[in-house]
Amino acid sequence: MSKKRVVIAGMGFGGLRAAKALAGDEFELIMIDRNNYHLFQPLLYQVATAGLEQEAIAYPLRALVRRWRGASFLLAEITGIDLAGKFVLTDSGTVPYDYLVIAAGSHTNFFGIKSVAEHAFDLKRLDQAEDLRNHILLLFEQASRESDPVRRSALLTFVIVGGGPTGVEFAGALRELIVYVLSQDHPDIAPSETRVLLVEAANSLLSAMPVDLQQYACRKLRIMGVEVLLENRVVGATAESVELYGGTVIASHTLVWSAGVAAADVAGFLSGVEHGAGGRVAVQADLSLKAHPEVFVVGDMAYFLEKGVPLPMMAPVAIQQGNYVARNILAREQGTSTHPFHYFDKGSMATIGRSSAVAVAAGVRFRGYSAWVAWLLLHLYYLIGFRNRLVVMMNWTYAYLFQERQVRLITAKKRRADSL
Ligand SMILES: Cc1cc2nc3c(=O)[nH]c(=O)nc-3n(C[C@H](O)[C@H](O)[C@H](O)COP(=O)(O)OP(=O)(O)OC[C@H]3O[C@@H](n4cnc5c(N)ncnc54)[C@H](O)[C@@H]3O)c2cc1C
Repeated sequence: MSKKRVVIAGMGFGGLRAAKALAGDEFELIMIDRNNYHLFQPLLYQVATAGLEQEAIAYPLRALVRRWRGASFLLAEITGIDLAGKFVLTDSGTVPYDYLVIAAGSHTNFFGIKSVAEHAFDLKRLDQAEDLRNHILLLFEQASRESDPVRRSALLTFVIVGGGPTGVEFAGALRELIVYVLSQDHPDIAPSETRVLLVEAANSLLSAMPVDLQQYACRKLRIMGVEVLLENRVVGATAESVELYGGTVIASHTLVWSAGVAAADVAGFLSGVEHGAGGRVAVQADLSLKAHPEVFVVGDMAYFLEKGVPLPMMAPVAIQQGNYVARNILAREQGTSTHPFHYFDKGSMATIGRSSAVAVAAGVRFRGYSAWVAWLLLHLYYLIGFRNRLVVMMNWTYAYLFQERQVRLITAKKRRADSL
């Protein structure tokens, strides 16, 4: 008897966990992704701020697949899903399935502000992080040559939108890159000439954290020289300016957007299903689709309510859902069933800068050095691949000891906006 085929659409955190748990003799497993690597998105901001090389946060999928029995990988763009016919459409042909796990993640949400979508940098892909690094380093080169103080100030002003973990971590890392490294590389540019602004619409940073940790993060960033603008919104941008609600215009060549995400385009390929906020796909208690029990959605794409509140778009949610769906599929094949999905919230954390982070785990709050060490260890643990862990650890140790960022390379002088 031929084996049943499980297709996994998207090999991020959720897809990878489901694939790992399903690999073996039971199924024919086909994994599809547009990239031939798994990307560790939480460290993208370190690639953008010259702290890590891009290879260190990506892992080749074929290196995993060759170790997993019954598994194969298809490098392809998913272009449609036929729920009735049970096949996935890709730019490399159609792939029929018995079970389908959709784990295609999310994309940046600019909330319909066209000028921002056109000019802002977002951090979802490796090439975007590299583009942003090139851009920052190039601006310092240009500023060194610029004699007009107004133009020079605009080149050295960086606006970041979104006071969640990504915005906070990026703002802190950028400030440190400027103070410890770029102002040494360019002795003619004083750190006081540069501006890093973090704009947040709410009245606090890190809204999911306890208030004392929110305040700590804000205070720390301000001490580091980041201008935190709370209860402010960016409403427009040009290549050389950023406009705030109320009309203030900031002369700046850099707008980094980390203010929201929406379900990946694949969610729109599912006709006849219910969508929740941000285009996420409404799923049942076992993460399957209502009329299609053989199709599951996990991670950022899934709209799953727990105690009436949608689960956040975070890696631990995707990981737990990927594992759960694999168990569920195995149980079904064995004629048993599983309990409804329940998310076990182990806590959250964000790093602010050197020796400084905030974390909450099992209701216990940490801040400062202990939280920072916990953040480092946890990220090393979740990175895929021994080499990547080693490289990242060496980079971090080197940066800590010598206050250097070795990866400050300009690899292209133009932004590759539409590349993968
Ligand atoms: C900059 C940044 C920082 C973050 N920091 C944190 C953090 O500190 N802590 C935390 O918990 N979470 C963090 N997150 C969120 C976390 O990365 C996501 O919640 C997590 O990646 C979601 O996992 P997923 O499996 O749903 O999707 P993803 O990991 O995004 O994987 C989706 C996969 O689907 C593939 N794909 C998508 N569309 C197609 C298509 N049409 N065809 C083929 N392949 C496709 C993609 O290539 C990708 O490999 C961060 C995210 C970003 C962007």
